[in-house]
Amino acid sequence: VWNNCLHSIKESVGEQSFNTWFSPVEPLKLENNVLTIQVPSQFFYEWLEEHYVHILRKVIHQELGPEGRLEYSVIVDRGNEKYKPFTINLPNNNKSDKPKEAKKEQTFSNPFTLNGVDLSQQSSQLNPNYTFDTFIEGDCNRLARSAGYAVAKKPGITSFNPLMVYGGVGLGKTHLVQAIGNEIKNTLEGKFVLYVSSEKFTNQFIDALRNNKIQDFSNYYLHIDALIIDDVQFLGGKERTQEIFFHIFNHLHQNGKQIIMTSDRPPRDLKGLEDRLLSRFKWGLTADLQQPDLETRIAIIQNKMQSDGIHIPSDVIEYLAYSVDTNIRELEGVLISLIAHASLTRREIDLELAKQTLKNIVHDIESEVGIDYIQKTISEHFAVKMDDLKAKTRKKEIVIARQVAMFFCKEHTNHSLKSIGYHFGGRDHSTVIHAVQSVNDMMHVDKNFKEQMEELKKKFKMKKV
Ligand code: ADP
Ligand code: MG
Repeated sequence: VWNNCLHSIKESVGEQSFNTWFSPVEPLKLENNVLTIQVPSQFFYEWLEEHYVHILRKVIHQELGPEGRLEYSVIVDRGNEKYKPFTINLPNNNKSDKPKEAKKEQTFSNPFTLNGVDLSQQSSQLNPNYTFDTFIEGDCNRLARSAGYAVAKKPGITSFNPLMVYGGVGLGKTHLVQAIGNEIKNTLEGKFVLYVSSEKFTNQFIDALRNNKIQDFSNYYLHIDALIIDDVQFLGGKERTQEIFFHIFNHLHQNGKQIIMTSDRPPRDLKGLEDRLLSRFKWGLTADLQQPDLETRIAIIQNKMQSDGIHIPSDVIEYLAYSVDTNIRELEGVLISLIAHASLTRREIDLELAKQTLKNIVHDIESEVGIDYIQKTISEHFAVKMDDLKAKTRKKEIVIARQVAMFFCKEHTNHSLKSIGYHFGGRDHSTVIHAVQSVNDMMHVDKNFKEQMEELKKKFKMKKV
């Protein structure tokens, strides 16, 4: 039956989409007009649901009649071929059927009817995908990660209490603190973990105030074994929320409960927070997340694609990792667009498509390596002003940066020596020749310099089509 289905699907979606999205799917069983298929990941399932549900519905009805149904089984752990113990979808004619909603963890919208209720039955509000397994380690996050892991193993017992993780947007704060929460929840039975954003905490508190339920509100929070509160910078200026948080914080801390917080800046730069609260934030450990380096970015993409069961050629992975160096969320965004782009235009994922996709998303990416781009890149790399590359300055570090920039202009553009000299403040062609020679010489004697040059070279090469 599935083979027949595949046949029809192939006709309607085209080769590339078919290979990407349907080849990895395997039929598991057919019982009572219900066909169960196995998909490599949750992402896959969501993708099929979102993009191909109509086609799937059509072919299932073709093959199994109007009563025919399709169920998915998702591989949770590829290595061990574990399956999610439940099937998650039944596409049928009923359009109001919304599997995505059914799947969500039951949300815990009203904490105030809680008195006497077993808290361990309540939702932790954790995303099960945010685990240590999926959190790639790199120089950028080593301290925060290992502190987080220690906390997860012995919540409330290490001296990392509170644990404060800070860093810019999209660098993995939420992922890391939820990984801690999931680890506690999965390995230490009976511990009640709660993840809450500072905004949600504030809103719950305001609701409680309005409904005279402050007592219930604090009782609820005082029961928690590990409290994860995300983006505490949003508590700035909210005095009464800070007051109750202070109270909860003290109580939990005194009772050996773990507190984990995140913020988009270090505690000393938090605005509108009371000193007594700030001083408590510093009791434990403060660890930052930094921008991921190239290797970490590559590893993150590889890992993500592997767990999603999607193959992307390694030059594309490198290209993406090179080009998107701002933060991981953005990198993921670009990846998803790329996959979508490939699937919708029925094209293979290759370097060219990646470049096109990126051009559509990131506006200031120039498609060609030009003098301007080289100057900009080199000035950033050597932390000198772009204007200085063109000026008369003879400071040593500027001279080196200038020579390196000229060197790459000669290597990677079609400009003549004369033209290159012209773009560097009207120098003549012999200066450019001299620069190229000096750089070659330096590469011979200075290993570190040579490595830097190779990094840069790769960067320019990746940029060219
Ligand atoms: P923040 O809370 O700091 O804004 P998030 O935790 O939401 O950032 O991370 C943004 C995205 O990047 C998430 O999808 C997350 O899974 C991913 N991510 C961040 N850091 C890592 C990492 N070290 N390994 C794998 N994925 C990561
Ligand atoms: Mg976050």
